[in-house]
Amino acid sequence: MTRRRILVGRLFHESHSFSPQITSGEAFETKRGADVLVHAWHSGTTLGGIVKRATAFGYEVVPTISAVAPPGGLVDHRFYVRCRDALISLANEGEYEAIALELHGAMATTELPDADGDLLSRLREAVGPDVPIGIGLDLHAHVTQAMLSSVDICIACKENPHSDVVWCGERVVECLAAILDGTLEPVLTTAKVPMILPGAAETSEGPLAELHARARSFAAAHPEIWDISLFNVYPYADDEGMGQAVVVLTHGSSRLAQTAATELARLFWALRKRFQDDLLTIDQALGLIARESDRRPYVLADMGDRVLAGAPGDSTAIIERALIRADRLRGAIPVTDPTSVEAAAKAGIGAQVTLAIGGRMTPGFAPLTVSGVVAKISDGRFVIAGPFGAGEETSLGRTAVLVLDDRLSIMLTSKPGFTHDPAAFASQGIDVADQDFVVVKSGYHYKLNFAGIGTPLAVATPGIGYYTPRMLRWKRARFWPEHEVPEPEIRVIAYGSDNSPSA
Ligand SMILES: [Zn+2]
Repeated sequence: MTRRRILVGRLFHESHSFSPQITSGEAFETKRGADVLVHAWHSGTTLGGIVKRATAFGYEVVPTISAVAPPGGLVDHRFYVRCRDALISLANEGEYEAIALELHGAMATTELPDADGDLLSRLREAVGPDVPIGIGLDLHAHVTQAMLSSVDICIACKENPHSDVVWCGERVVECLAAILDGTLEPVLTTAKVPMILPGAAETSEGPLAELHARARSFAAAHPEIWDISLFNVYPYADDEGMGQAVVVLTHGSSRLAQTAATELARLFWALRKRFQDDLLTIDQALGLIARESDRRPYVLADMGDRVLAGAPGDSTAIIERALIRADRLRGAIPVTDPTSVEAAAKAGIGAQVTLAIGGRMTPGFAPLTVSGVVAKISDGRFVIAGPFGAGEETSLGRTAVLVLDDRLSIMLTSKPGFTHDPAAFASQGIDVADQDFVVVKSGYHYKLNFAGIGTPLAVATPGIGYYTPRMLRWKRARFWPEHEVPEPEIRVIAYGSDNSPSA
């Protein structure tokens, strides 16, 4: 018997519809051919799980492309089209029995609100109805009819922070293998409610812990259920039909799947008022760091300016307060500002400079004028230590470290980057253990990567990375609590193995 072959790839972006920054091709780490597999193999990613499990099954893994960028503004449409067409043309050339892709599931371009749906429907058209397609998604995906009607398997990671993305990829391959073996005739049964989660977005506690427990008990009691994925839609997408989504994967069509999807969707709605956070203000957080010194270093999540939620990362709000306050804390803070990077580089290492930093990208922000010493200039490249994103090569763009008042290390970066990982700071010569606090542009994943290194503390800060009612204007989407939404009627749609929806 010849070896089974599986075509794999990744196109991963969470696209903020209201960021003024377009995400260009330069923001992406793009790999092709064998490079895709080399990097995926040891990585803490869904694609890593896909490659590892397929290899363990003895499959020949056929690579296409892998392109990933930190969350940010809408993707340059031309770049997306190049990636899409490259992937589809490799799918047209290759020989394989199944396709497994890692997508975020909330990618939008300057022209398309649902780029993942466009990619998958074109891929389905190209390969025909008989090749099983499986996708492993981020649980913050905006799952659409175009996506679900084009695939056989659609699985989300189950945890936020995302500690189980490798598992997600492995599960996609296990399900595809079962289709090829004839033991799974996949049906995806879905239900949605028009709401976002204004807070309480972690899965280990609060209402999401209850929802996941209910989903697990359904699956445990009924062997025909292969997976229940709960999607907490990325709130800064702007597309029709946005909401919390339940996707139940069963062997064959199942009344039970409809019951599970309906009940879980209703539960989202019933619990909606409990999706709230209780964040500290900047001054409360800095005061706590000053008082409770034995828990240092603290890792402050700059919730409003989270690059990991698509914000530009150019806020100076925490720097401003830390400079003014009397507690003279030592800290390290990233700020996206390519203009100041160039000015610092021109002045050179050791130079004393006065610069207006940050505040040039996010609407409503303004630069902060500071004086300090240029301590380092680099290309900003580093490898994420993980576990979240472990082994991924990434870049902050050209980066300058500016030390203010002998105690605050400002990491001026040319790009919005992944700072949820200690390696981002180490790459700039900043020893996290030596700080009273570091600021990360991440609200959840940093907890995984700084575990045992620092005390996490989420801070209410301004910016477009944290939901505030009436701050942004959605054009297509309508959801609670931003809009007046009546009690929703739960509509269940089943996508069968022939990929046609049935109500
Ligand atoms: Zn996510």
